[in-house]
Amino acid sequence: MGYVLDDVPRDPFADDPEDPAAALGAPEDAEPLTPDERNEAITDLSDVEVFRALLEPQGVLGLVLDCPECQEAHYFDWELLRSNLRQMIDDGRPQVHEPAYQPNPTDYVSWEYARGYVDGVIDAEENH
Ligand SMILES: [Zn+2]
Repeated sequence: MGYVLDDVPRDPFADDPEDPAAALGAPEDAEPLTPDERNEAITDLSDVEVFRALLEPQGVLGLVLDCPECQEAHYFDWELLRSNLRQMIDDGRPQVHEPAYQPNPTDYVSWEYARGYVDGVIDAEENH
């Protein structure tokens, strides 16, 4: 493997703690997450896992979320939600703006609906 790397010109920022290459792969204008935003993403990820566990068997493919960037509703399937949040948590960068392509809106529910559904299931179990 070493011979491949030998062909790469030496990184001029190799000894620079502010190496711009460290940000490679992230959107260039994206601000790093604040600790609060990161904590929120961790909470969201555990919510998404619960939503998926209860709603996927009902035929729900994912969530529809209002996009703060373009003020439109976007459809995210479970796997995309999960990988977006994981990436936010692991990289400390905002999620990729990459909603599902040509979704069927009836296959998706809002975050509020999912939340209410989960709360209803939990209530029903506690009052059983
Ligand atoms: Zn958008």
